Amino acid sequence: SAPAGAAVQLTPMMAQYFEIKSANPGYLLFYRMGDFYELFFEDAEIASAVLGIVLTKRGKHLGQDIQMCGVPIHAANDYLNKLIKLGHRVAICEQVEDPAEAKKRGSKSVVKRDVVRLVTPGTLTEDDHLEARAANYLAAISSVRHGDTDFALAWADISTGETFTADLTAEQVLDELARIDAAELLMSAATRDVLSERQLLPPAFLARTHVTPPESFDSQAAADTLRQGFPAGTFDPSALSRAARSALGALVGYVRDSQRGAGVALRAPVIDSAGRHLAIDAATRMSLELTQTQRGQVTGSLRHSIDLTVTAPGSRLLASRLAAPLADAAAINHRLDAVSFLTEDTLLAGRLRTELKAVPDLARALTRLALDRGGPRDLAAIGRAVGGAISVSRLLAGAEALPAVLERLSATLAAAPVGLATDLAAALDDELPLLARDGGFVRQGYDAKLDEERALGSETRAVVAALQARLIAETDVKALKIRHNGVLGYFVEVPAGQGNKLLEEPHRQLFIHRQTMANAIRFTTAELADLEGRIARAHEAALEIERKVFASLRYSVLERTDLLRALADALAELDVTAALAHLALTRGYVRPEVDTSLAFHIEGGRHPVVEERTMAEGRSFVANDAELSGSDEIGGGRLWLVTGPNMGGKSTFLRQNALIAILAQMGSFVPATSAHIGVVDRVFSRVGASDDIAHGRSTFMVEMVETAAILNRATRRSLVVLDEIGRGTATFDGLSIAWAAVEALHNQTGCRALFATHFHELTSLAKTLPRVSNVTMKVREWEGEVVFLHEVVEGAADRSYGIQVARLAGLPEPVLVRARQILNTLEERSSGTASSGQRASVLDDLPLFAHQPPARPVGPDPVHQALDGIRPDELTPRQAIEALYELKKIR
Ligand code: ADP
Repeated sequence: SAPAGAAVQLTPMMAQYFEIKSANPGYLLFYRMGDFYELFFEDAEIASAVLGIVLTKRGKHLGQDIQMCGVPIHAANDYLNKLIKLGHRVAICEQVEDPAEAKKRGSKSVVKRDVVRLVTPGTLTEDDHLEARAANYLAAISSVRHGDTDFALAWADISTGETFTADLTAEQVLDELARIDAAELLMSAATRDVLSERQLLPPAFLARTHVTPPESFDSQAAADTLRQGFPAGTFDPSALSRAARSALGALVGYVRDSQRGAGVALRAPVIDSAGRHLAIDAATRMSLELTQTQRGQVTGSLRHSIDLTVTAPGSRLLASRLAAPLADAAAINHRLDAVSFLTEDTLLAGRLRTELKAVPDLARALTRLALDRGGPRDLAAIGRAVGGAISVSRLLAGAEALPAVLERLSATLAAAPVGLATDLAAALDDELPLLARDGGFVRQGYDAKLDEERALGSETRAVVAALQARLIAETDVKALKIRHNGVLGYFVEVPAGQGNKLLEEPHRQLFIHRQTMANAIRFTTAELADLEGRIARAHEAALEIERKVFASLRYSVLERTDLLRALADALAELDVTAALAHLALTRGYVRPEVDTSLAFHIEGGRHPVVEERTMAEGRSFVANDAELSGSDEIGGGRLWLVTGPNMGGKSTFLRQNALIAILAQMGSFVPATSAHIGVVDRVFSRVGASDDIAHGRSTFMVEMVETAAILNRATRRSLVVLDEIGRGTATFDGLSIAWAAVEALHNQTGCRALFATHFHELTSLAKTLPRVSNVTMKVREWEGEVVFLHEVVEGAADRSYGIQVARLAGLPEPVLVRARQILNTLEERSSGTASSGQRASVLDDLPLFAHQPPARPVGPDPVHQALDGIRPDELTPRQAIEALYELKKIR
């Protein structure tokens, strides 16, 4: 690496570089030089390797070559994107003065440069860097030594300005981190150590952690930061806990520093309180595959299956509702009322969706404009979004008896600034450049002065053509041309052979020699220089007007920031509501009855994702009921013990009920013929593989840790869905643990629960525990094969069909035959009354090697040996055939 400040003679540029580099530790420095961002030393090595660009050398430092690589300005975004995605952080260092200024100070002085922006995963604002349909959160977490909470979290999506805070107990930390899924996580070293020590910072989050100095979390300093960060009157920092203030202060300070002076555009924070949401812990999110499958894919997740929104902000809102469904029956019903209304007025819903489809991402465009990073296209997007809001608002105004949510949205949208939309549409051209800098975006006819300057510009071009014709006539040089380049401006060019003619009388007076090229000579004339000046002035004047138009439009947009954000929210909410109505109609979902009881009664329930898949495969999905309803009088909810063979549909059934609860509480209709759900406070699901090998814990250990979490945290209001507890250990241990867990859930917790198990012994619990029932997945045996009917029926499975399932999986026939023989022996000898312990001893009596296929000869495999002896290149076709026959004989 480069030792800064070493006692060596540095070039002024290198001195500047080291100064800036050392002021921004931990960042790759993009150092602006002309049309490139250059990287030096280690930065260059990293970037060239990651980006696959050439590493070159530029001069020497301390006797060593200075490594260098560069990315062109116009492609910088792509390169930045790649670096950020891979977890690098980049400081953008620009020239902050005109190079001409630097020259005035002396030939040796360098152009002033400064870092104008730090680009990090959590502070992205450009569409090139962001996924349209995903929020991009930056989060800060603070820990408290004394106080009633342990931690506080503040998080914000810089691209839209949405900001939140929450106080957290230690046990909520992991759940909240999983819910928010921040791209970047700020904390002090002390907090990182506390979290790690308490196992609250799994590798996925540690990798996104950025440790900031402890001062950044100082709650005293936070007061100032917050006052500057949020406009006066928008929110009162004293409404936050000290811990939340400290986390929010760190967050706002980080955003401010990373954006370097550009106006930070965060919205007043929403204070999130645990209890408002249906709590879903990290393991449950994984198990239910809410936003991605257990293999990390989006396709196959619940979100993917139910997201029928037509705008990116709508999709982001849907995702955040899915991540945090409500826990308040009244609020849920308000949402359901709105969805319900649109399922009935399908004409309105269809029209709304058509209008919404054309509405651009208002919030992100607004943020870019606020940060002075926006261009004409952002202005146009805002104009179109406001236009969309107006059309949508008209549609809603035409509807009668709107439910409360839609009434509220309608009122918000009715305030859309019509004037702004018309102004933007009138000012901006149809085709727009990305940047305002070079002009060319203001529509013809919008500004009379601009049109005049532009006309002058094009007029002069006609004058140039006329001048060229005249000069040709005067000199009689047919090949004479008036041309233009960046160095000379306008000039006259003649082929080298005819150049002398212009250097002689009478032309000498008129043509001033500028440049002699290999095959051409260039001149200028007084008239041309004058023309040149006029064109340049017209162009500059036009540009100046365009810049002013941009600034004034930008101003009139930013002036309405609050209103526009409210519109953006309303449009997103309307999109989600209409999308959920569309979902309900196209998939046959029904409105769930949601109240404060302990009901959980589902008729004809389906799994939203598996249903889609089975139907795509041309099979039908078998709907199943669930009845876990209970009451305080009888001690809580019911618990169903689900038995049945593997592949019978147990996990599908378990998951679908948890998903129905989540869908209902996010305010969606559900895949069922009817559903009555008393609001669930927490849902726990442990279904499917949860091997945590990466953490070095065995399956059994993980399972026990998770079971412990459920038994400790579930309440009577919770919904618990558990699959095969205790399978990772010896039968007796496993059975005992599962048994005790069922008893605890029934007697102490009293939650509504589904419990799938392979331990048939457990089913006898239904005799002693009043709220436990046995159900099983129906199967039929047909010619020795099992047929899964996927139907949940009362009772316990009489057998597990393990051997039939093993056959389906392709276990070799001899193994299956042997397994069947062992099973028969076990069943005969235990004659139904024996315990598993006695069964185990039966195994001792089994003839160990009976009916084994003959043992294979020991030593190298004869087929392989024969293959080794064959040399295909040396064989005739006939020999090849013979070789094949020989091979077939070996058995
Ligand atoms: P288990 O948990 O009992 O091993 P799964 O729930 O994983 O079984 O189901 C196995 C397969 O059976 C699923 O992948 C799905 O294709 C099919 N299946 C499950 N339930 C149903 C159902 N109700 N209707 C139709 N197919 C189903």
